[in-house]
Amino acid sequence: MQKTDLLSKKINQSERIRWFKSGAKEGPVLVLFAGVHGNEPAGLKAIDAISEKMNSSTHPFNGTVYAVTGNKQALELGVRYLDTDLNRLWEIFNTSKETPFLNGINTPAEYSESLEIKKVVDAILEAHEESAREFIFADLHTTSSQSCAFILLNDTLENREIARKFPVPQVLGIEENIHGTLLSYINNLGHKALGFEAGAHEDQRSIERSEAFLWLLMHATGLYELGEAETEKLGEKLQAHPNVPKTYYEVRNHKYIEDPDFFEMISGFENFDTVKKGTPLAYEEGLLIRAPVSGRIFMPLYQKEGHDGFMIIREVPEYWLKISGYLRKSFLHKYLRYLPGVSVMNEQSYRVNRTIARFLVKEVFHLLGYRVTEKDEDTLVCHKR
Ligand SMILES: [Zn+2]
Repeated sequence: MQKTDLLSKKINQSERIRWFKSGAKEGPVLVLFAGVHGNEPAGLKAIDAISEKMNSSTHPFNGTVYAVTGNKQALELGVRYLDTDLNRLWEIFNTSKETPFLNGINTPAEYSESLEIKKVVDAILEAHEESAREFIFADLHTTSSQSCAFILLNDTLENREIARKFPVPQVLGIEENIHGTLLSYINNLGHKALGFEAGAHEDQRSIERSEAFLWLLMHATGLYELGEAETEKLGEKLQAHPNVPKTYYEVRNHKYIEDPDFFEMISGFENFDTVKKGTPLAYEEGLLIRAPVSGRIFMPLYQKEGHDGFMIIREVPEYWLKISGYLRKSFLHKYLRYLPGVSVMNEQSYRVNRTIARFLVKEVFHLLGYRVTEKDEDTLVCHKR
């Protein structure tokens, strides 16, 4: 038996793989994650629905699809997570940082879940590295507020290229505010990765939208060709509210909360609702929190689980994206080190002293494709994506 066949056999015996389907070997490999949050079953239902339909069809299939189950223990209980968020701990695999729970004391249940998922991802990559044209990953989620469907992506040109094939709002650069997501981990391995948010947790339409997204994704990546009428019909299922333009958005503000028990979002906000600076949004430990900037409210937290209270996003003008696409391929990178207040950390990263470089620092680094995180009040760390 060949090495790749042996590997495939190992993968297919893993209980993490819900199902897989393979056709022509040289096609793309698509890896779908669902149920990474245990209270979001819509993605799993959609994944099972497409499997059933594909099994009863003789339509040609080019490549391989794997469906991977997320947080098994949390799914059984119907909770977001048991000990820690499975979609916030992936930084431990990207860095050599000592993890607080590696010594076995206080090891969260999610650590073993993440190890198993990582093993499956490694095995899939190894099994297909020689034959596959490319790897594409997608992670299916739903939200605690009412919402139209949208895509989350780390802002790389490769991710943008695939994401723009879907007629839904696209939110860029979430990785600067939310760390350790599964998709960031995959991006750091060098592969395309999209997050699809289908709508509210318990909304039947969230299942339908997830399913429409999956068919369109298989079509867009060349795995399963659909006719024009069919793609149009599926696209219509994903349509946003008429007052939410299907364009790009970036995060302007992120409200992190220590303890969701002491956080109360004011009721009635839907995802993407416009808010003016100063609008009352929530209470934290009894204190009123107002919108610090104008924009659209994003992922307001209406459950007592999770640490992201809300975000405020704003549309990114199309020309800005075009300029940044051009600049990322340009030679300007090598001049960054000469800017005042900028010092080189390593080949991929710069440190920026904000007391010296005050204006437009984030914008310049964003344009050139860097992820910008705040190290402290005066320091930004900019890392090439
Ligand atoms: Zn989720």
